Amino acid sequence: MEKKPFLTLPQARQIMQDIPTPFHVYDEQGIRENVRALHKAFCWNKGFKEYFAVKALPNPYILQLLKEEGCGVDCSSFTELMLAEALGFGGDEIIFSSNVTPAEDMRKAYELGGYINLDDATMDDFMADVAGVPETVFCRYNPGGVFTMGESKEGFQVMDNPGDAKYGMTEQQMIDTFKKLAAKGAKQFGIHAFLASNTISNEYYPHLAGILFRLAVRVAQQAGVKIAAINLSGGVGIPYRPEQTANDILVIGEGVRKQFEEILVPAGMGDVKIFTELGRFTTGPFGALVATAIHQKHIYKEYIGLNSCAADLMRPAMYGAYHHITVLGKENAPCTHKYDVTGGLCENNDKFAVDRMLPEIEMGDILYIHDTGAHGSAMGYNYNGKLHCAEVLLCADGSHKLIRRAEKPADYFATLDMSPWGDKLLNK
Ligand SMILES: *Cc1c(COP(=O)(O)O)cnc(C)c1O
Repeated sequence: MEKKPFLTLPQARQIMQDIPTPFHVYDEQGIRENVRALHKAFCWNKGFKEYFAVKALPNPYILQLLKEEGCGVDCSSFTELMLAEALGFGGDEIIFSSNVTPAEDMRKAYELGGYINLDDATMDDFMADVAGVPETVFCRYNPGGVFTMGESKEGFQVMDNPGDAKYGMTEQQMIDTFKKLAAKGAKQFGIHAFLASNTISNEYYPHLAGILFRLAVRVAQQAGVKIAAINLSGGVGIPYRPEQTANDILVIGEGVRKQFEEILVPAGMGDVKIFTELGRFTTGPFGALVATAIHQKHIYKEYIGLNSCAADLMRPAMYGAYHHITVLGKENAPCTHKYDVTGGLCENNDKFAVDRMLPEIEMGDILYIHDTGAHGSAMGYNYNGKLHCAEVLLCADGSHKLIRRAEKPADYFATLDMSPWGDKLLNK
């Protein structure tokens, strides 16, 4: 699939008049249209709801526009719950999917009336002790072993390793937990699983749905409980590489519907609600990191240095992840030069791209790093005293809005006790 920026050089320059690079920019219209397609794909299910994984892009303006489109939120920590509360999410608009859960987080989720998704069979007593027993409780499933689905037509294998993952509980533990919770007053139950990440395949969700629907039928019978919802969680991926093909959410929705009608409807469970917690799929392609080429060096390889670094986008350094790069204004220029595109951290893995063929880059060129709309800015950190960059919303009407200012030195120093040395650093 051709990787096309949603921003032109003139648009970037317009934003740069107010907000210097580097910044992440998000495409409001793209996000809205994508969520509408998701809702269309699952409109056959009356109770369908997307709970956006807040960790992917925890910005209130993004959460607000997702709220306007009918989404809820999937939170995993106290501060994510605080953000959800501030935006007016409550009750069945919140799912709390955490692990190694602190007591205060559990209490907060309970107080907000959100759905609580228990990661482990030891968590039901913990929840009851520190918070209470809600009417509906979810449990997270881990089937163990290796999860494979064969190769997609481009030869990308969908594979993950639940047997090695810290999340979820076994089938028997789920049955026992449901029984215990029912005895403590829970009225109905939900099942959740996240078995593979960033899948480029229209088959992942239908395959997962098949596993979870069959599990739901068995568990409902053996525990004697009502299953109200099945949460397919995240994991639907995006084509980071040009040679990958985007998932088709309408095909995915139809695939899940087929499993629903084959498994749940005959079991008398046709009223089960389908939930999703898509982060990457929802906002990933609709964000980009915009940075300026500020240095070049010619040693054993050719390097282009940007005024950004892994503190703004950690995925390449952390996972060796590929992020496509477009030099704005040179979209159609031939890719004749091989570069390592780097940030300025004192870490050799601080490279946005290695051996990447690009048009010839001049100092001052604006580089557009694709697909940073999920797990991009959110993973930012302050190593080397690097400061988080700004976030900008490209609004549907073509205007732009600063939705997170860049960090200042004062933000970085705010948690240090500088009082013996004066407050100079806190004024910068
Ligand atoms: C991270 C996460 C998600 C979102 O995953 P994506 O790959 O962004 O779709 C959803 N649910 C849970 C519990 C998660 O931890």
